[in-house]
Amino acid sequence: TWGQARESLQTAIGKNNYQTWIEPLTFVSCEDGVAEFGVQTSFQGDWVSRNFGEEMLRQFDKLDAGVDRLRFSVQPKRSAPAKQAQAPEEFARPQAPKPQKKATATEEALLGAPLDKRFTFDRFVVGKPNELAHAAARRVAEGGPVSFNPLFLYGGVGLGKTHLMHAIAWELQQRSPELRVVYLSAEQFMYRFIQALRDRQMMDFKSLFRSVDVLMVDDVQFIAGKDSTQDEFFHTFNALIDQQKQIIISADRAPGEIDGLEERIRSRLQWGLVVDLHPTDYELRLGILQQKVEQYRSQYQELKISDGVLEFLAHRISNNVRVLEGALTRLFALASLVGREITLEMAQESLADILRQSDRKVTMDEIMRKICDYYNVRMSDLLSPKRSRNIARPRQMAMWLAKHLTQRSYPEIGKRFGNRDHTTVIHAVRKIEELKAQDSQVAEDAELLRRMLEA
Ligand code: ADP
Ligand code: MG
Repeated sequence: TWGQARESLQTAIGKNNYQTWIEPLTFVSCEDGVAEFGVQTSFQGDWVSRNFGEEMLRQFDKLDAGVDRLRFSVQPKRSAPAKQAQAPEEFARPQAPKPQKKATATEEALLGAPLDKRFTFDRFVVGKPNELAHAAARRVAEGGPVSFNPLFLYGGVGLGKTHLMHAIAWELQQRSPELRVVYLSAEQFMYRFIQALRDRQMMDFKSLFRSVDVLMVDDVQFIAGKDSTQDEFFHTFNALIDQQKQIIISADRAPGEIDGLEERIRSRLQWGLVVDLHPTDYELRLGILQQKVEQYRSQYQELKISDGVLEFLAHRISNNVRVLEGALTRLFALASLVGREITLEMAQESLADILRQSDRKVTMDEIMRKICDYYNVRMSDLLSPKRSRNIARPRQMAMWLAKHLTQRSYPEIGKRFGNRDHTTVIHAVRKIEELKAQDSQVAEDAELLRRMLEA
């Protein structure tokens, strides 16, 4: 059966994952509904269990194999005994949550989403690009008199917004266990809202959300344009603020840049403190890599990496920390499989695809956002037909940057900038080249922007 399950698994999780994670497994036995596999390191077992456990069980199910649990035990092959004897990793089907009737304690569970254990302040590496956001989060996590309300965190994908929110929640919960801290994504908020409407439980919904002490809503840009959800959010928001309850919101851009967000919500969001997480820089990326390696070593086993490998990754991999983590995880896997020092060549080879993608480092979005910041213009103006100089120039600069820093074609760039014709883009790029030669201010702007975006 394992042979058959394996085959369909390859289609389900992709060839790459399959080769890295499934192929090295050795099938040990299948008894009493438990399928046992040998792994070389506990990291490998952990990873397979966490990421592919569910899919593996699904494949067994399809074959009616009667497997409902997976076990991964470390079976060091040749020399190198495992650091310490470790309990085998198990993957059991998640139990369906039992309906619970008890109030308070379970209400948060009903309202909020679970918090990730790894997202604590301890594990958040602070650097220039995120120090303000971190400081604000710390302050809010100290509790006490509500200082910044709401706290609005924004920044691009993978820069640590969710991590910081969870960290605040953990910290508050630890300091004052009686506090009712609720964390959820804006999408979940909407989902609960719609459910309450459908089940005619709006009174409950309202009173539940209005009775929390701290409300955190992640990725609030999601409810932009969803009118009735926004409306409900607005009322909840006001009710909590009136009671001096702390609110923490995140989004992928500044309140003023979220299209489709009602003006009244936008201005309320700006009442408190608005801080952004900037794209990571080299030092921060290196810091994060070093911390993750330390963690791996303390949790799993010794890991030998040649000098310069982490520096290389910090240089070459884009500013999204999630991508950085993905690369590192692959190196850990590699190390646990080959059992010797990871050299730069090995790293380069095994990460070729990630490195290639990261070469297209700068995205159109980043360029546009940077331009808005730099020239203090609105995204909507940048995309509008307006042609006044104070908007046209930043727009041309953005197109010039897009041409030089991304792999986009003229038509693609035009399309992204409010559906403009490719000749407009060609003209813009020429115009900036011309101006750079004549006007030192323009030359300076161009250079500075380019460097900031490539950092
Ligand atoms: P966002 O919500 O902004 O998209 P996340 O908070 O989900 O980003 O972060 C993506 C991943 O990167 C998470 O695994 C998180 O732990 C990690 N990460 C981001 N910033 C840091 C940091 N400063 N230090 C350590 N890990 C970080
Ligand atoms: Mg997030």
